[in-house]
Amino acid sequence: MSTLYVVATPIGNLEDITLRALRILKAVDVIFCEDTRVTSKLLAKYETEKPLVRCDEKAEGKATQRALELLEEGKDIALVSDAGTPGISDPGARLVRAVRAAGHGVVAVPGPSALSAALSIAGLTENEFVFLGFLPHKKGRQTAIKSIAAEERAVILYESPHRIEKLMSELAAVLPERETMLFRELTKMFEEVLVGTPQELWARLETDGSARGEFVVLITPSQEA
Ligand code: SAM
Repeated sequence: MSTLYVVATPIGNLEDITLRALRILKAVDVIFCEDTRVTSKLLAKYETEKPLVRCDEKAEGKATQRALELLEEGKDIALVSDAGTPGISDPGARLVRAVRAAGHGVVAVPGPSALSAALSIAGLTENEFVFLGFLPHKKGRQTAIKSIAAEERAVILYESPHRIEKLMSELAAVLPERETMLFRELTKMFEEVLVGTPQELWARLETDGSARGEFVVLITPSQEA
């Protein structure tokens, strides 16, 4: 049976890739990826050359057709994203669904994710958490912020550097005292974890000059704050 392998790749440090991921990436016929430049860099580090097909949000429909053709021809393919685990706030879901519906194999090759990396060093004593990915930018954002304020479990979000200060100001308005953690640039040179109230973190980001890097945001549960 032809197989689609969904392969997790590093979230910063290129050494964070599993032996199995490398073996699969070397073995498949074609790799579907978000940005061919990012994936080429990873493949070059591990001396691998493969045909790449772009599969970002815009190209997912076309890429899905191509993937189905290749699988019909008996080829094996892999799906990677720019960083971390495909399918977690990344494109790929439609491709995965279509491949499974067509009767081909879909196999996970697990590895890094910013979500699990942040959780692993958060020190949460409760097992439950709510992962919201990226909040909507406009419509529905205020509703999402209110639902975070009402949530008793830990809430984990992804946020871009452009909106991190705005997010801290929005959280400061609804959860002024709640301990919040920012995991910045995990596995990279300027990795750091900032802990404080949303107001404190907002001030800290402002004095830092600009909020650079990638962030995972964790709002601790009400009973741990
Ligand atoms: N699929 C990826 C995963 O498994 O983590 C997430 C992709 S999503 C498009 C990108 C977001 O993940 C970033 O905006 C940031 O919130 C988070 N992220 C990715 N890499 C990170 C890192 N090294 N440190 C902190 N956050 C990161």
